[in-house]
Amino acid sequence: MEKSIFTRILEREIPATFEYEDDEIFAINDIAPKAPTHILIIPKKQIPTINDLQPEDTGLIGKMVQIAKSIAKQKGIADDGYRLVFNVNEGAGQTVFHIHLHLLGGRIFNWPPG
Ligand code: AMP
Repeated sequence: MEKSIFTRILEREIPATFEYEDDEIFAINDIAPKAPTHILIIPKKQIPTINDLQPEDTGLIGKMVQIAKSIAKQKGIADDGYRLVFNVNEGAGQTVFHIHLHLLGGRIFNWPPG
C-alpha cells in the first residue's frame, strides 16, 4: 500500500503540528481548519476507510474516541460542545484514505450537517 499523507506526517517527511502521540495513535492540527479547533486523531496503522475495520481494530477506535475526549477537555471545548466525525468514502467527503477522527469545536454546529 502506498504511504498516505498521514503516514508521511507520522514519519516526519511532511511537517504538521502534533497535539498527541503514543505507540498506536497520533493527533495533528488540520491544515485547513473548519472550526477554531480542528484536530485529526489518526491511528498509526494505515486503515483506508471505516469499511476496512476488522474486529481486532475495535479497541483502537475506542482509544481514538478517548483521546478525542481528552483533547477536547484540554482545549476547553468539552463543556460547550464539539463534534466528532469520520467521513467514509468520497460520497461523505473523505479525501485522505487513512482513517481519521475529526475533532471540531469552538463554534456552533448546525444539524443536519451539509
Ligand atoms: P477527510 O476529507 O475526512 O478525508 O479529511 C482529511 C483532512 O485532512 C482534511 O480536513 C484536510 O484539511 C486534512 N489534511 C490534508 N492534508 C493535511 C496535512 N498535510 N496536514 C494536516 N491536515 C491535512
